[in-house]
Amino acid sequence: MAACRKHPFDTASANCRTCGDDFCADCLVYTYGPEKPPFCIPCALVAAGVRRPGGRRRRASRV
Ligand SMILES: [Zn+2]
Ligand SMILES: [Zn+2]
Repeated sequence: MAACRKHPFDTASANCRTCGDDFCADCLVYTYGPEKPPFCIPCALVAAGVRRPGGRRRRASRV
């Protein structure tokens, strides 16, 4: 049995659909419902658009 990546003493309950790592239930977010593969918290934030991977974009126009 795999252990949660963040909690080495907890058994992982599923894999993140994005990064594929093992996480326990506390670390997983079922964004699309319990029947869809979950995200880990960092990946859920990226998927929700809270954080963008690969740097930030500014809308401010340069003069
Ligand atoms: Zn992930
Ligand atoms: Zn965990």
